[in-house]
Amino acid sequence: MKDVNGVILNEKIWSLTFVKKKSLPPDRWGDCNVETKTMRVRSDLCDYNVLATAIHEMLHASSFHLLDEDWVDVTSTEIARVLLKSQLVKVNRDQGLSNRKVLTKKT
Ligand SMILES: [Zn+2]
Repeated sequence: MKDVNGVILNEKIWSLTFVKKKSLPPDRWGDCNVETKTMRVRSDLCDYNVLATAIHEMLHASSFHLLDEDWVDVTSTEIARVLLKSQLVKVNRDQGLSNRKVLTKKT
């Protein structure tokens, strides 16, 4: 996976960065900073959760003050599930970062 700059969401320019587990609080898989226009996602999550979390943070960025957490959570996980199950996407990751633990989600 690679960081992406110039992500245009809601007419603003964001960056999507993949970070190590220790970069975020222990109970977080990602975050979305509306001030710095930065979205961060933990790179050690399983394929399903790293994709769902990236979608989750992009949904927050797209409409930060409109979408509630439950809607973002349900929608992002379902989009990730369908993208993976349909084989439309495959998550690519660097060797050594993979950690297949499934954890309780909080983003
Ligand atoms: Zn969230």
